[in-house]
Amino acid sequence: MGRKILLGKINIPGIKTYEVYRQNGGYASVEKAFKMTPDEVTEEVKTSGLRGRGGAGFPVGMKWSFIDKKSGNPRHLVCNADESEPGTFKDRYLMEYIPHLLIEGMITSSYALGANLSYIYIRGEYMWVYKTLERAIKEAYAAGWLGKNIQGSGYDLDLHVHCGAGAYICGEETALIESLEGKRGNPRLKPPFPAVKGLWQNPTVVNNVESIASVPWIVLNTGTEYAKIGIERSTGTKLISASGHIKKPGVYEIELGVSVEEFINSDEYCGGMIDDRPLKALVPGGSSVPILPAHLIYKTAAGNDRLMTYESLSDGGFATGSMLGSGGFIVYNDTTCIVRNTWNFSRFYHHESCGQCTPCREGTGWLEKVLHRIENGHGREEDIELLLSIQSKIEGNTICPLGDAASWPVAAAIRHFREEFEYHIRFPEKIKNRDHFVHEP
Ligand code: NAD
Ligand code: SF4
Repeated sequence: MGRKILLGKINIPGIKTYEVYRQNGGYASVEKAFKMTPDEVTEEVKTSGLRGRGGAGFPVGMKWSFIDKKSGNPRHLVCNADESEPGTFKDRYLMEYIPHLLIEGMITSSYALGANLSYIYIRGEYMWVYKTLERAIKEAYAAGWLGKNIQGSGYDLDLHVHCGAGAYICGEETALIESLEGKRGNPRLKPPFPAVKGLWQNPTVVNNVESIASVPWIVLNTGTEYAKIGIERSTGTKLISASGHIKKPGVYEIELGVSVEEFINSDEYCGGMIDDRPLKALVPGGSSVPILPAHLIYKTAAGNDRLMTYESLSDGGFATGSMLGSGGFIVYNDTTCIVRNTWNFSRFYHHESCGQCTPCREGTGWLEKVLHRIENGHGREEDIELLLSIQSKIEGNTICPLGDAASWPVAAAIRHFREEFEYHIRFPEKIKNRDHFVHEP
């Protein structure tokens, strides 16, 4: 059984409420942090090796240390709770069932950054979770953990939860900041990074829910203890949203370093393939990351065991690797039509493109259109090369990562499942007459 740093208390009856959370050791990290200097707290997070759990895996402590504390400008911590990556639903689980853990992490982290005004930006579709957070924040204010002179420490913090309006792009940190400022959620060019010019041009740290919720444990148990969990540069535990053709879909907390084979097949996690059908493909980190074919799921291209770590999942680079990403782990069996799956992702990115840059605005539309005709038995012989040409013109040529996210899954699907695209084009009548959800050959 792996350690449960985040979900260990989630089944305690009433843990959603302040009283029960506090009775079970809640807010102790804030008490401990107040006995330390803000820089000492930052140092613990640096030592822990904690990497951003939203998807990019950027070291959290390093991001915090980019904040200029000498300028005297107000600083902000913004929690990115705009969880929208297809296949990802782990932040919702944390916020819904143990909201005070996030609030405790927000206070401890805001203290480390010297922020007196912080925000949680939550996606519009999570309205009921937004209400849960509002209730918990109210309780924290009433108990003296938020507001002026918190617990007599002399430190002030106001915390607001802000609800988005349902745009995927608002999960991109600069679009999120624009939206929080009351504008249309269009991504900004980086640099400057938010750590330099963020919310209202003030130094701002944007961290994912899971990253912030990991901070209380690190402060209480030390960064050194956290760094002992996991392997290599993948320290600590990670929440994985597991879905698809597995017996036990759900949210699991793993110690980084578990093998992909164990994660899929053991009873502790996914419980194996549904109906014991063969494994065909895996998207391990949300829809933005490259798909892996069966022969590269349990073993890397170099023949090593494939592990649930940032390093192992990207082993071999783009050609034969994928990414841990946001931990949106989607498992496919042999009945899956990869063309349909790729078209479905492309439709999503086309719909969610903000339209600012031409390669993304036009390219995502083209990808969707061409994939739609292949999937529906109207594909042309030149379409596979056309898809590769479009995706290569989007990749690396856009303001924000949505362009790459739209282009990578197409390139990876063609690289690993080209024969399926060719079959769709060569045998249009078979494609038109089949059950659309099932891959036939
Ligand atoms: P990124 O690599 O551009 O940045 C990561 C973080 O590090 C950002 O906060 C950035 O400001 C900071 N940073 C990087 N270099 C810096 C520097 N020199 N100075 C200061 N700060 C610096 O990635 P990103 O755009 O934040 O995120 C992309 C990832 O988001 C993708 O990999 C995808 O997996 C993930 N994603 C997740 C979801 C979700 O719902 N969880 C949705 C969409 C995408
Ligand atoms: Fe908007 Fe797409 Fe450009 Fe991102 S890449 S700024 S979503 S048009």
